Amino acid sequence: MALIVQKFGGSSVADRERIFNVARIVANTRNAGNDVVVVVSAQGDTTDDLIEKAAEITHDPSQREMDMLLSTGEQISIALLAMALDSIGTPAISLTGWQAGFRTNRAYTKARITKLDTERIESELARNRVVVVAGFQGLNRMDDITTLGRGGSDTSAVAIAAALHADRCQIYTDVEGVYTADPRHIKNARKLQEISFDEMLELASLGAQVLNNRSVELAKKYGVELEVLSSLNPIPGTIVKEVADVEGMLIKGVAKDDNVAVISILEVPDVPGISFKVFGALAQKKINVDIILQSVGRDDSKDLTFTVPRSDAELALAVLRENLSRIGGTDIKVDTGVAKVSIVGAGMQSHSGVASSMFEALYEANVNIRMISTSEIKISVIIDQAEADRAVAAIHSAFIH
Ligand code: ASP
Ligand code: MG
Repeated sequence: MALIVQKFGGSSVADRERIFNVARIVANTRNAGNDVVVVVSAQGDTTDDLIEKAAEITHDPSQREMDMLLSTGEQISIALLAMALDSIGTPAISLTGWQAGFRTNRAYTKARITKLDTERIESELARNRVVVVAGFQGLNRMDDITTLGRGGSDTSAVAIAAALHADRCQIYTDVEGVYTADPRHIKNARKLQEISFDEMLELASLGAQVLNNRSVELAKKYGVELEVLSSLNPIPGTIVKEVADVEGMLIKGVAKDDNVAVISILEVPDVPGISFKVFGALAQKKINVDIILQSVGRDDSKDLTFTVPRSDAELALAVLRENLSRIGGTDIKVDTGVAKVSIVGAGMQSHSGVASSMFEALYEANVNIRMISTSEIKISVIIDQAEADRAVAAIHSAFIH
C-alpha cells in the first residue's frame, strides 16, 4: 500500500461536475489500495473574485483581513469534495490548513511554512479516511490565518508529501503536463516526459504557469518527485525530478515573461559605490532586480540599465527619484513595452553554440535584442513586447523539432 498526495487546482474543482470528476479520481486511487491525502485550491476564479470583493470595500485592506477572506475559498472546496467523496462511498474528512497542522511565519498574504505537524492527517488516514486538506493556508504564531501567496496550494501539497514521505505527489491541473512552450500559442509545443527541478524552477520563474515556484523549491529541497498531469484527460503527464532524462533535447522550453520593465539611470558618476546606492535602495523596498547592464564610462559618467518586475516599476521609479541626488544621475527612464524571452535546458551546460542558435533565430525573425543574460541552464533576452510572440515561435522552431 502506498501513500499518495493528489493536488487539484481551481479549474479541476470549478463546478459540481468537476468535483465529482475529482472525487472519482481520488476514489479510484484509494480503491486501488492506497492511502490518499488530497489538497485542493479554491474553485475556479474564486480567489480573484474575493480580491475584487475586498477592492469594493477599500483600496488598502489590512493584510490580515485579506488572508481571512482569501482562505475561505479553499474551505469551500474541501467541504464540497469531502461531501462528494462520501456520496460515492469513499469515506473522507476535510481539514483546513491549520487543522492539518500548517504553521507559518507572520507574513500575511505571502507566508512561508515554518512547520507541519501531521498528527491529525495521520490519525485520519489510520481511520481509513481520505483526508482532504485546504491548500494555500496556515496559521501564524498569533494564531491568525495566513495564506502562502498566489498558487500556494502546490506548496501545501509538496509540504505534505515531504512530511509524510509520500510515495507519490501528483499535481493535477487543466493542462496535460509541462510543455516546451505555451501550447495555447505555439502549435507544435511538445509535452515533456521529464524535467529536472532546476529546469522547472527556471521555467516557473519565467512565467510558465504550471507549477508554483516555491513548490518546486520545496520539492527539490526534500527530494519529492512531482507528477504534473491533467484531471480531465487520464494520460501520463510530466515527471519533475532531480535528474531528468534529456530525451536528446538541448533545451526543455521557451518561456515568455511580460512582467518586465527596463529602467535606465542616465549619466551616473563613474565612481565606486553607485551600484550599491541604486540596488541597495531597491533592495530595501524588496524590489527584485534581474538583468543589469552598465555602459562603459565616458567623461566620468556612465548609464545604468536594469530590469525589474513591471508590477514594481512605479515603486522602483519613486524610490530612485527620491534618491537621485544621492545617486547623482541626470535622468531616469522607464520602458514597460518590453518582454523577456528565455530558453531553459540543462543540456546547454555541455553543448556550445546554444546561445548563437538562439540569436540566429532572433536575427532571422528580425527581432532586435536589447539586453542579454545567461546562467548555466538559461539564456534570456529582453526585446520589444510587440515582438515577443514571434520571437518565441522562431526560437521554439529552431530548437524543438
Ligand atoms: N486559490 C489560490 C490562488 O488562486 C491558491 C492556489 O490556487 O493554489 O492563488
Ligand atoms: Mg486558484
